[in-house]
Amino acid sequence: MATLEDLIPLVNKLQDLVFNTIGTDTLDLPQVVVVGSQSSGKSSVLENIVGRDFLPRGTGIVTRRPLILQLVNIPSNATNPQQSSSNGPNYDSGLSSSSFEIGAGLSGSFTDLSNPQGNSNAGAAPITPHTRTGPAGKFDEWGEFLHIPGQRFYDFNQIRREIEQETARIAGNNKGINRLPINLKIFSPHVLNLTLVDLPGLTKIPIGDQPTDIERQTRNLILEYIAKPNSIILAVSPANVDLVNSESLKLARQVDPQGKRTIGILTKLDLMDHGTNALDILSGNVYPLKLGFIGVVNRSQQDIHANKSLADALVAEREFFSTHPVYRNIAHRCGTAYLAKSLNQTLMSHIRERLPDIKARLNTLMGQTEQELASYGDATVFTSPENRGALLLTLMTKFATSFVSSIEGTSSEISTKELCGGARIYYIYNEVFGNSLTTLDPTTNLSMRDIRTAIRNSTGPRPSLFVPELAFDLLVKPQIKLLEPPSQRCVELVYEELMKICHNCGSPELSRYPKLQGKLIEVISDLLRERLGPSSSYVSSLISIQRAYINTNHPNFLGPAQAMQEVIEERKEKERQFKEIKALEERRLLKEQEENEAADIAAREAEADAKDGKDRKDNKKKQEKDQLHQSQQTHHKQPSVSRLDLNGSSSHGLLSTSNDASGDHAGKDSFLNYFFGKENASGNRGSSGVKNKGYGISSSYGTGNSSAYSGNLSSGSSRTLVNGNFPGSGSSFDNMSAEFEDSLTDGDDPFSERELLECELIRRLIISYFSIVRESIQDQVPKAVMHLLVNYSKESAQNRLVSKLYKESLFEELLHEDEALAQERTKCENLLKTYKEAAKIIGEVV
Ligand code: GDP
Ligand code: MG
Repeated sequence: MATLEDLIPLVNKLQDLVFNTIGTDTLDLPQVVVVGSQSSGKSSVLENIVGRDFLPRGTGIVTRRPLILQLVNIPSNATNPQQSSSNGPNYDSGLSSSSFEIGAGLSGSFTDLSNPQGNSNAGAAPITPHTRTGPAGKFDEWGEFLHIPGQRFYDFNQIRREIEQETARIAGNNKGINRLPINLKIFSPHVLNLTLVDLPGLTKIPIGDQPTDIERQTRNLILEYIAKPNSIILAVSPANVDLVNSESLKLARQVDPQGKRTIGILTKLDLMDHGTNALDILSGNVYPLKLGFIGVVNRSQQDIHANKSLADALVAEREFFSTHPVYRNIAHRCGTAYLAKSLNQTLMSHIRERLPDIKARLNTLMGQTEQELASYGDATVFTSPENRGALLLTLMTKFATSFVSSIEGTSSEISTKELCGGARIYYIYNEVFGNSLTTLDPTTNLSMRDIRTAIRNSTGPRPSLFVPELAFDLLVKPQIKLLEPPSQRCVELVYEELMKICHNCGSPELSRYPKLQGKLIEVISDLLRERLGPSSSYVSSLISIQRAYINTNHPNFLGPAQAMQEVIEERKEKERQFKEIKALEERRLLKEQEENEAADIAAREAEADAKDGKDRKDNKKKQEKDQLHQSQQTHHKQPSVSRLDLNGSSSHGLLSTSNDASGDHAGKDSFLNYFFGKENASGNRGSSGVKNKGYGISSSYGTGNSSAYSGNLSSGSSRTLVNGNFPGSGSSFDNMSAEFEDSLTDGDDPFSERELLECELIRRLIISYFSIVRESIQDQVPKAVMHLLVNYSKESAQNRLVSKLYKESLFEELLHEDEALAQERTKCENLLKTYKEAAKIIGEVV
């Protein structure tokens, strides 16, 4: 077992590994607890294991408080401020150098001693004695008490004195014991990170200050320490007492019945009666312990008085076994050196048990770190310009691709929370833009009065003979302009969306190069900004184009005839409704009258004498009748009706004409008559010239755009428009805007019926024409934006990036790595290196 000699460095490495590298817990080496009856030699054994004289020993009860001794391994070259002075204040110069050499603890020094030559140069001892006797060696071992923090005891004799004093302080001077432990740490390059516990010995009969149940109290105290499964029990029994009476073995069996973690130690083999020996016990034939029995010979009380050094004692011990007639044959399995070796083995197997866990943890950590490292990208790409160029191109392409795929909706990182990219653009076109257009009122800022003024202006001094086309032109053009703001807003929204997309195009890889990322965004932003102007002005010109020529020949245009027909149909409807109301009212009154008459008869019979009353009733009835008549009259003059003053006579003519209008040619005559010829008597415009009927007007129309007009009329090809199916043309008298309506009634220049009709006609034509233009704009603007802004940017993104950024002079700057990230990677690399080393260490432990 060559590895045993390396236990200190190995444990140190592993400890470092599990504690500092894995960072979770320690190797958790077992603590070694010494158990035995009083004066059985516990303190002596412990001292031998540590390799230093520092424990109070002697006859009678000496260990009266538990001593928890933590051995802490420190590097041997630890610098010490006191190193310059040859004699430190606490340093006992009387401590012989040989005691230093023997103080090998659990390291290979014991192995040296176990080799027959006793030569420290033989074997593979990792720590040679002389390394601890140099000037630095004087101060590389010291003890510290928990109850005196910060004070280093370089003199081990003083440590002993402090233990004695501290014991007395708590447990008194008169043999009393106390369960309060003394904590002592020994710092040394020559010890294992291990905890040893020295306990008071078991006694049966109380003496001095000891309580009457001293046995029970010590027993409980000992059990408390050895019950921990992580304890190795050193069960000390003196060889000069019958093993059957061994208290330590009894206690050990209680907590470790299978003897798995108990090492039996037989002390005082030198004190056995002549002719007796412990060979049977040491051979394992008397008491079964997996870890066996080890016989030792410690310094006697006499030796202690004589100041016999540990080294000399160990030599004497070996001498004792190798020359003893009985033990000679098992000498290699006896003595303090062998005890240390056994302890090593036990610790080693414990470490092996822990290794699989550590290994697994280490593998996980390595995997994680490798993954993290990979996420930071390869650091070696910076070597040559070609490499950099290639990397730059790759990153640019990725950025451009990400931009394009975000727009096209093929991006792998499509959000489920909100509309993004292409979907959002589509939404802008259809919802935002579409809605803003459909909610536009075609007659915004246009009052009936404005229309009349326009009509008057366009006809000049002459009264117009037909619907003034010039006025329509004049009026519809500014309304078309209403379409521009929503259209420009559409361009802006799409532009903003593209900007957003471009800013979100980064990849984790790219975040490594913040400069490059910034530049990529900048170039694309510039490109978008560049495209905003042309897109916006194109949209502007789309509106201007619409305004440039008012195409009254558009197949979907309502046209004056249809508009007229609509007006008529609505009048007709109004008329019908009015008649209905009137009939209902009459029926109600009739019924009321009948009821009244019936009541009258009843009243007459009941109150035949009350003649005055009857007269009054008759009067009342007459009054009611008159009221009804009046109310019917006023109904005719209600504002709703007065929009197109429907008095009895004219409505009659209207009805008959409209009935014919949808059908035969004859109707057209009277219809036009009504429209252009039959000027209302109250009309305040000269109407003498318009008195001509029928064909005069018709022919005058014929010279203009008669074909379309009359064609429409006769063929009925645009019936659908009349029926109100044409989008936006559904406006009737009833849904005319409030503003519009108000303009009819205010002011002191009342509308003639003809004017009302003309204005209403023009209004309808404006609405109809506006709808046509709106439809066209709603169709064309998205197409233009798509072509000039979206597709253009999409298609030229990659080229633009390359032409702006792919310059060798820029490589350095663009591929400048993010400092924090570079640091992270270095950290990660170092960590991985440590893990790999750790894995190597573990691999060595076999
Ligand atoms: P503890 O009370 O169990 O800690 O026992 P100590 O270590 O204090 O030893 C008690 C006494 O027995 C001391 O005087 C020791 O010198 C002595 N002693 C311990 N072990 C041996 C041994 O193996 N042989 C001889 N001759 N004396 C021993
Ligand atoms: Mg003791």
